Amino acid sequence: MMHKLSRAPLALQGLSRCFITEKHSASVKIARRGLVCAKHVGDAGDNEVYDVIISGGGMVGSTMACSLGMDPNLEGKKILLLEAGNKKVMDKVPDTYSTRVSSISPGSATLLSGIGAWERITNMRCKPYKKMQVWDACSDALITFDKENLQDEMAYIVENDIVVAAVTRQLDSLSDNVEVKYRSKVVKYSWPMPHLAADSIPWVEVTLASGETLQTKLLIGADGPNSMVRRELGIPTVKWNYDQSAVVAVLHLSEPTENNVAWQRFLPTGPIAMLPLSDTQSSLVWSTSHQRAEELLELDEESFVDAINSAFWKTDNQTQLVQTAGSMFRGALSAIMPSSGSPRQLPPSVSGIGPKSRVMFPLGMGHASEYVRHRVALIGDAAHRVHPLAGQGANLGFGDVACLTQLLSQAAFNGKDLGAMQHLLEYETERQRHNLPMMAAIDLMKRLYSTNAAPVVLLRTFGLQATNMLPTLKEQIMAFASK
Ligand SMILES: Cc1cc2nc3c(=O)[nH]c(=O)nc-3n(C[C@H](O)[C@H](O)[C@H](O)COP(=O)(O)OP(=O)(O)OC[C@H]3O[C@@H](n4cnc5c(N)ncnc54)[C@H](O)[C@@H]3O)c2cc1C
Repeated sequence: MMHKLSRAPLALQGLSRCFITEKHSASVKIARRGLVCAKHVGDAGDNEVYDVIISGGGMVGSTMACSLGMDPNLEGKKILLLEAGNKKVMDKVPDTYSTRVSSISPGSATLLSGIGAWERITNMRCKPYKKMQVWDACSDALITFDKENLQDEMAYIVENDIVVAAVTRQLDSLSDNVEVKYRSKVVKYSWPMPHLAADSIPWVEVTLASGETLQTKLLIGADGPNSMVRRELGIPTVKWNYDQSAVVAVLHLSEPTENNVAWQRFLPTGPIAMLPLSDTQSSLVWSTSHQRAEELLELDEESFVDAINSAFWKTDNQTQLVQTAGSMFRGALSAIMPSSGSPRQLPPSVSGIGPKSRVMFPLGMGHASEYVRHRVALIGDAAHRVHPLAGQGANLGFGDVACLTQLLSQAAFNGKDLGAMQHLLEYETERQRHNLPMMAAIDLMKRLYSTNAAPVVLLRTFGLQATNMLPTLKEQIMAFASK
């Protein structure tokens, strides 16, 4: 435990170093970031030059392509999306839920709505929720987030495949503006020099597995957490693997409920979350040690269901000391603020799981200290990867899309070169200002809850209870996470 805790300041230092990088003057950055291996003119073919190539058509890359393709200022620009995998079409919504789901924030829903994909998503399948309850397995402390009048949605649970299918449909309708090549894996990138040298190519060159080469004035790397774009540019990245894997599954509830609450309980081995899918089904995201995750995958269905119910209900991690101190603190807070705080609700119990729905993913965190280089920008997991405990990974990526679209649209309106560093640096600064505090908070939370040492448990119990009593602070947290 000591080891884990002592790494926390280091982790934060690593993140803040990246932040300090942002304070460098633009000119220093522009010069320094040219120092990547450049390609010489004699090697380049006479290929047509794209204005923008997006490498990677996951949730974030395909949304980026759509968002650029719909922007009126970018009309007439040549935009290409490259995706290594197959086209994800969905003629009919499958009867069973997929295990991969995301909690989509209202801010991301607004972006998807602006590109015409949100209506498709809600017509396919999407479950809004109005409340979230988070509690500690080592004490009675809990926090609930809800929208004041329960009229608004807090967020939406959507299957990842549905997001991609809806955006893909929208891309089909934009075929005049955006070209898409599926089963097109990029195997090589060649980078231009930042200042045109006589013998260097002016554009980024992209080589596909088929041998085809393409050129672009701006390359957007949306190729996920193991981004080849980031790697080949040699961008320094702060990253580590957590000592946890996430087990995901589709859960059948014991009885139908309104099911409009997202539940998360912090166990000393990691958080377990139950996210609503329908009146009778929810999605499980259970982060735990790699070994326990493997064991959970091996269990027969009945034992797996028992393990889930115990993880949500059992109180054997609680000690008398923490319980007494926690209830005294809660009593004192209620005396000062009698009307504050939210009552505890009980999560639904689970009776079964979807067939073949159990899968595990190793978890890690990563942050590229630079999101841009000359003629290149990184978005989504290619730039940042977070623990799923706050359901923010894809939302941070959608935030990148909204920000980069706006800056590129403005650049096009002003007749500027889309690949120029000036507006790319604006993108980087704006997004790192948002992403870094969020990533630091998520990482801190992961570390704070990965122990059952009494002093730490007491500290977080008081913190959680006090925060639960402060509606304004809770509203600020919700507003930050809703973007
Ligand atoms: C268990 C779990 C739960 C999560 N829950 C949430 C949640 O509730 N809310 C949330 O916001 N986020 C959540 N996330 C995070 C979210 O899933 C990711 O942040 C998101 O999927 C990242 O999308 P992306 O498009 O950036 O990357 P990816 O989904 O990794 O997509 C990258 C794409 O690039 C393509 N590609 C890669 N290399 C190449 C190449 N060389 N050439 C061409 N194409 C290439 C790949 O085929 C892929 O399609 C969760 C993650 C996990 C693991």
